Amino acid sequence: MSSDTTMSTASLQSLLPADLDTVAVSLDLESTLAHCHEYFIQQYNSEFGTSYVRDDIDDWDWVREEIEFEDFNRIVNDGWRNCHTEIAVMEPGLADLVARMHDHPRIEVDIVTARTGVEDGMQAWLAANGITEYGEFIATTTSKAQLDYNVYIDDRPGLANDLPHGKMQYLIQGPHN
Ligand SMILES: [Mg+2]
Repeated sequence: MSSDTTMSTASLQSLLPADLDTVAVSLDLESTLAHCHEYFIQQYNSEFGTSYVRDDIDDWDWVREEIEFEDFNRIVNDGWRNCHTEIAVMEPGLADLVARMHDHPRIEVDIVTARTGVEDGMQAWLAANGITEYGEFIATTTSKAQLDYNVYIDDRPGLANDLPHGKMQYLIQGPHN
């Protein structure tokens, strides 16, 4: 997979294992649909006077090793809760792409996030960005690997290793993974 894998390069066909009639897709929100890292880095810089750029977050554990993870969580939670309009969409055309998945006769797509407590802001963000055609919006602290989806579109590296046999992850790649 190339290093610039994005949602728009995902062919719907590639998400459809031939042995399944219907494919349940878990579509991640943060850093898959919503540019949370970009938002975070801007807010962090303005709060702490640093000059990090997006590409500085070059590892999944960056926020734990380079800064305080609590600051990351606080800033992202605050973004969802109070200023979701400042969180950008990862790439143009995502609303259409999600709608095409939702309309596909063999795909059932839910938007699934592991962040809880800011669901109102997240759903407002989805609506504001025209992402309105999907099955359910699910915010859960249950490990995604334990949810019963066939395909996971997600930027979390290693999720695939936790999935039961026969399930797959389509990794959305970025500097952080
Ligand atoms: Mg994510």
